[in-house]
Amino acid sequence: MIPVTKSFLPPIEEYMAQVQRAYNNQWLTNRGELVLELEQKLKAHLGIDNILITNNGTVPLQIAIKLLGNGGEIITTPFSYVATTAAIVWEGCTPVFVDIHPEYLTIDETKIEAAITEKTTCILATHVFGNPCNVEAIDAIAKKHNLKVIYDAAHCFGVKYKDKSIFEYGDVSTCSFHATKLFHTGEGGAVFCKNETLRHKIFYSHNFGHDGPLSFHGLGINGKISELQSAMGLAVWPYISDIIDKRKNVVHAYNRYLNFTNIQQINLREDTSWNYSYYPVVFNTEAALQKVQDELNKSGIVPRRYFYPSLNKLSYLNKMNACDVSEQIATRILCLPIYHTLSEKEVQQIANIINSHCE
Ligand SMILES: *Cc1c(COP(=O)(O)O)cnc(C)c1O
Repeated sequence: MIPVTKSFLPPIEEYMAQVQRAYNNQWLTNRGELVLELEQKLKAHLGIDNILITNNGTVPLQIAIKLLGNGGEIITTPFSYVATTAAIVWEGCTPVFVDIHPEYLTIDETKIEAAITEKTTCILATHVFGNPCNVEAIDAIAKKHNLKVIYDAAHCFGVKYKDKSIFEYGDVSTCSFHATKLFHTGEGGAVFCKNETLRHKIFYSHNFGHDGPLSFHGLGINGKISELQSAMGLAVWPYISDIIDKRKNVVHAYNRYLNFTNIQQINLREDTSWNYSYYPVVFNTEAALQKVQDELNKSGIVPRRYFYPSLNKLSYLNKMNACDVSEQIATRILCLPIYHTLSEKEVQQIANIINSHCE
């Protein structure tokens, strides 16, 4: 079977050696030696001076929304993983969907201003598949209307925009280290924030609000990652450049073997140094997608339809405004298999099936 992705599993002795350190320390969580070391490695690698590693990529989104959203309306993208919208609703805020750009698939910044009301507090946008939003335009709109900007950068490990880590943009930026993501800790994530006051609030919020053992800065939740998850991160760490190189080869192989007459690739924003995290293709119709998907499945190849549905169509939301582009793309986009051990021959096989069944 060729699945859409496979988690990188480091050699088990190397994972166990990291776990052994937690045993030696008799320290399993609460910011032990392993998570602190992983944070240092990430800072150096990403060229960023602030990072807080967390238990996943969703809780830091919730914390940011709790601190900045103020129960108001949050302008957001309908084309993302469900966590982006769910975090808004979970924190008692109201999502206001703004449609996406048909080629970049990120929020259409030209439509944001029309959606701002006196209740708007934040813009929460996703750098979809590691493709940056128009961060300059969004920043200008936010400044003009006194709004905060949160980026769901779950897909963005290692992405640079204009020679800077993409995590440097926005008031708060979050990443996911889930097992299916490029760099992973099994479950895990991170939050980035340049403002010291806000960073302090995020920090104590992720640890129950603690100010030492006996007093509290304020309300908090548990967003801490354990030493056992950090052990996985440290064991994956030495392989990350190799993982990205191998995925780069997969991307280049698809680019060579696929016939792009009837399918479309996403446009990467200029000045982006990308991370080869996904290989989405957009078909002309949902029927064409389904036909190709069926043929691939017959050969044991299992691509995934994401993101589907467009999040403005989620059944638990009150009726939301239409987002034509996102709804259209959501029915026609398929993410092809991509992972470190996917061979050129397998890519060729996948491409052949797509080329011969795609209308
Ligand atoms: C994976 C993902 C998340 C959630 O991250 P977890 O670590 O699974 O909580 C949020 N947003 C997007 C866009 C994602 O792909």
